[in-house]
Amino acid sequence: MASPTDLRTADPVEVLRRVFGYDAFRGFQQEVIEHVVAGGDALVLMPTGGGKSLCYQIPALVRPGVAVVISPLIALMQDQVDALTAVGVRAGFLNSTQDPDARRRVEAAFVAGEIDLLYLAPEALGTRSAQALLDRGEIALFAIDEAHCVSQWGHDFRPDYLALSMLHERWPDVPRIALTATATSATRAEIATRLKLTDARHFVASFDRPNIQYRIVPKREPRKQLLALLRDEHPGDAGIVYCLSRASVDKTAEFLTANGIPALPYHAGLDAATRARNQQRFLREDGLVMVATIAFGMGIDKPDVRFVAHLDLPKSVEGYYQETGRAGRDGLPSTAWLAYGLQDVVQQRKMIETSEGDLAHRRNLAAHLDAMLALCETVRCRRAQLLDYFGERRTTECGNCDTCLNPPESWDGTVAAQKLLSTVFRLDRERNQRFGAGHCIDILLGRATDKVTQYGHDSLTVFGIGGELREAEWRGVVRQLLAEGLLAVEGDYGTLVLTDASAEVLGRRRTVMMRREPEKVAPSRAAKPRGSATVVAELSPAATAVFERLRSWRAATAKEQGVPAYVIFHDATLRQIATDAPASLAELSRVSGVGENKLAKYGEQILTVLADGAGPA
Ligand code: ADP
Ligand code: ZN
Repeated sequence: MASPTDLRTADPVEVLRRVFGYDAFRGFQQEVIEHVVAGGDALVLMPTGGGKSLCYQIPALVRPGVAVVISPLIALMQDQVDALTAVGVRAGFLNSTQDPDARRRVEAAFVAGEIDLLYLAPEALGTRSAQALLDRGEIALFAIDEAHCVSQWGHDFRPDYLALSMLHERWPDVPRIALTATATSATRAEIATRLKLTDARHFVASFDRPNIQYRIVPKREPRKQLLALLRDEHPGDAGIVYCLSRASVDKTAEFLTANGIPALPYHAGLDAATRARNQQRFLREDGLVMVATIAFGMGIDKPDVRFVAHLDLPKSVEGYYQETGRAGRDGLPSTAWLAYGLQDVVQQRKMIETSEGDLAHRRNLAAHLDAMLALCETVRCRRAQLLDYFGERRTTECGNCDTCLNPPESWDGTVAAQKLLSTVFRLDRERNQRFGAGHCIDILLGRATDKVTQYGHDSLTVFGIGGELREAEWRGVVRQLLAEGLLAVEGDYGTLVLTDASAEVLGRRRTVMMRREPEKVAPSRAAKPRGSATVVAELSPAATAVFERLRSWRAATAKEQGVPAYVIFHDATLRQIATDAPASLAELSRVSGVGENKLAKYGEQILTVLADGAGPA
């Protein structure tokens, strides 16, 4: 095992190989590392899973002194320290959850330079005692993780982050590296100003996540659709299901469990202990599904989340991208799946209407919702549309989204739109009654329901003029008109009303192109993404059996040590071991993710697991 002191003189690539067991740097990791090792400040923007941690962990090992990592995610510090310990890197943390003894030990280790990384909560850094402590040791660098928390306009604003500008004043010679996965160019500028990172070099990676397959489907029976997805494409996989309300979190978790899929709920209505326990289990055990409100997920760096499913429409593209980004940090194929329906639009518009805050705030919410709806209704490649939104142009189609894999038809929906809007126009005159989409569609389809006859709506000129489309298609028309602002909803019952723009369609001054869902909605598992870097070969049946044995070995080992399974080895590493079937420690050491420490610790055990299955069955 490399002793931490001999790494001080090592080249970053050597540290990458020996400690982390990886062959090559990704993206601009190497440039960032060299810049920080040389004492420069850096602002690093990389998508989730891009490999931000190594950007400060390797300089921490190469530069003299201890790297101080500021992170708001106290609950995850133990796991971060465990993951470093597993590769033989000495790390500790200081936060409010610790007992005084553990605290003193970490403080002493810091002062003596016996650790390489010290994790600190931002609020701790503001205290005089912490500052005095830092003055007593040698600081290699400051890493500011989740740096977007400094942004007052963002959703994760932490007031304690504002105080971090003092790092520069107090320790002007210590290099600082700020990292985030969420930043538009406006937030990026804000981070640089507020942290006084004015001379920092900016490293901005592409925000594309090629291994994530984006799919947005019309919502019919969302829980059943979800169940089918999990059974067909993700049996035994870990994943996150997002729901809007606590009640639907609970119901969905129960539904999945009742159908044989182990699922846990997570929302702000559960007591803190239950939440912490469920989060721990999700991180530690294999193949659990977390059903949660968006209260869950920040900083969850579980690498093998294989799917993120949304049962309700996210409020913004930013939120959607951040939540789906929690899938596939390990680079293996993963699914981002969203079921979206008319009711989502109605509900969200209503939430905006009744939200607190001034007009500007409500307009801002509406603009965010509109961008999200545009993503749902687009006939373009979803990835191209997403990246566009974040200011990244892409001219080619991705080959790994529902639009690319199973192109929807784009059809001229102008006449249909006119029929629907005229129906709304006619009903609109009966102000005393409330009519939603369902009633309008009944009229268009010529259904003489009780309500239709009661109001004499079967004698309207529009009655029965919409037979060319099925009910589901009409719902699609309503949804798309709502998405484009050509129709609006009002009040508690989702009453449809016209907007100023409706007149353009009714007056034939505007055509409306619509997305028609292809018959078969789910791309088959066999569909291989084109032109993306992350095509992973399916394991052969024999390799699958080995992989499963390695997984059980890993689960047992993780349990014994009280660490998350991925701290032992990532899925990607186990897959490669299963495929390559190394016969010696030397061969095993060539597998990506097997560094010196893990080889020494687990190498023999792995070879035994491999040999066990090799004999006659
Ligand atoms: P981020 O913090 O940017 O979301 P992480 O630092 O957690 O991402 O890295 C994501 C995953 O990629 C981790 O599992 C990490 O071990 C792995 N990884 C990072 N850099 C490399 C590399 N150069 N080669 C192989 N795997 C890497
Ligand atoms: Zn695409």
